Amino acid sequence: MTMTTLEDLLVEQVRDLYDAEKQLVRALPKMAEAASSGDLQRAIQNHLAETENQVTRLERVFEELDKPAKGKACKAMRGLVDEGAEALDGDSEEALTDLAIIAAAQRVEHYEISGYGTARAIARQLGQETIAALLEETEEEEKAADSKLTEIATDLLGQAGSPEDVGEKRNGPARKSAEQITRSRRAARG
Ligand code: FE
Ligand code: ZN
Ligand code: FE
Ligand code: FE
Repeated sequence: MTMTTLEDLLVEQVRDLYDAEKQLVRALPKMAEAASSGDLQRAIQNHLAETENQVTRLERVFEELDKPAKGKACKAMRGLVDEGAEALDGDSEEALTDLAIIAAAQRVEHYEISGYGTARAIARQLGQETIAALLEETEEEEKAADSKLTEIATDLLGQAGSPEDVGEKRNGPARKSAEQITRSRRAARG
């Protein structure tokens, strides 16, 4: 890839993001489906709707750049999605599967936050304020999605440390079986 200007670099970055978002539009429904926690399912589904809108937002960025909306295979996102898929197949205990889905999803969000942050900074440097604002809007959604996932993971892990676990903690390293985690979650769900 030969680039001569900072604008070329911005276009490359936006093409990468465009392909990455489109991959996620395909991948997120499978992750939502594999999740057991209602909170996690809803969070992923909400973020799927946001992600579809992020694709549209990038098309507006292409318009602003006066370039065709064209992606460039994002290999990094391909790898993250492939790793995420490993969390979905297999028949691990459901709480562990949920935590594995969150682990994969947060890697994705962090990757996106980084990509949008860089692109936004370049756009601002170029004086492309409309583009910078569009990119920043998505960046904020990615950050919110990441925080929501942290919240859900904290709940899931917190339920792994219920009072029945205290004696065990006193006597040695806290260990809780996946079955216990699931039982605590079912109890919490009522
Ligand atoms: Fe996104
Ligand atoms: Zn990429
Ligand atoms: Fe690594
Ligand atoms: Fe995202």
